[in-house]
Amino acid sequence: QAKKEGKNNFQFYDESLNSRIYDRLQIENELRKAIDSEQFSLRYQPIVDLVSGQLVGAEALTRWDHPELGSIPPDQFIPIAEETGLILPLGERILRMACKELKKWQFADTERFTLAVNLSIRQFYQPNLLKIIQGILRETETDPTRLTIEITESMTMNVKKASSILYQLKSMGINISMDDFGTGYSSLNCLKEFPIDHLKIDQTFIREISGTNGNKNIAATIISMAHTLGMKVIAEGVETEEQLHFLKQHNSDEAQGYLFSKPLAAGEFHLLIDKGFVYS
Ligand code: C2E
Ligand code: MG
Ligand code: MG
Ligand code: MG
Repeated sequence: QAKKEGKNNFQFYDESLNSRIYDRLQIENELRKAIDSEQFSLRYQPIVDLVSGQLVGAEALTRWDHPELGSIPPDQFIPIAEETGLILPLGERILRMACKELKKWQFADTERFTLAVNLSIRQFYQPNLLKIIQGILRETETDPTRLTIEITESMTMNVKKASSILYQLKSMGINISMDDFGTGYSSLNCLKEFPIDHLKIDQTFIREISGTNGNKNIAATIISMAHTLGMKVIAEGVETEEQLHFLKQHNSDEAQGYLFSKPLAAGEFHLLIDKGFVYS
């Protein structure tokens, strides 16, 4: 067998490639079976105002707990759901779960609080997106001004179409965040075509803030650019006091990351609201 003769590193590559293809097929098959199951749930990660330290929102993050395979991270199954189109039914369920939960919180004693839900590109461009969202908001009796939709730069390549969808969402009262900003290719010139409320600085630029050869300027530049365009900024993946200090100095409006809290189960998150979470 060729494998026996091969060098160690070749064997390693060969096996890992095989297992990656197998994993992908297995995830795809399991995803089809699981789509209507109770295996998906949401975690909620707090978003904190950097001036007051108060909770101003959360991001809903999907978890898949497979009975045999264990927990499968979204980075592994969301892209497959996207490629196969399974993201459409799944995304609708995610949005419904998020709105049901939001409905419980919206009368809590939080002046401003929004829940952000990630949308994938296929969901964003589905012809009946607005109808689906309207239906879910009505059915769950959720206040649209408490809902934020997170999009990514890849969705704004078709400027005309994207801006038309975003303006319709805005006219319903929904907030818009640009997620993972700085990792895509959107030009500054395009950004001003869209009604974006919040720019989320990608984690990679937050990581650059700490460490000795990191380029802190990128985060600082994104913040001032966003402010010039009239958007607020959320720093993603904040893990250290050093990063927080820098972000405050450069007037980032909000932040999210393990420094404040990891994504929490609904019950844990509810306790946080009840306690009146303030980061200090
Ligand atoms: P994202 O939307 O950029 O979400 C932020 C990710 O960063 C989450 O990973 C979160 O758990 C993680 N994170 C938060 N704070 C920190 C930190 O301080 N350090 C580090 N290293 N990571 C932090 P998660 O939950 O694994 O989700 C990964 C990605 O999967 C998301 O990135 C998003 O693109 C996608 N995703 C998750 N849920 C959904 C969903 O319901 N729909 C869609 N379309 N995509 C989703
Ligand atoms: Mg996100
Ligand atoms: Mg992000
Ligand atoms: Mg991301």
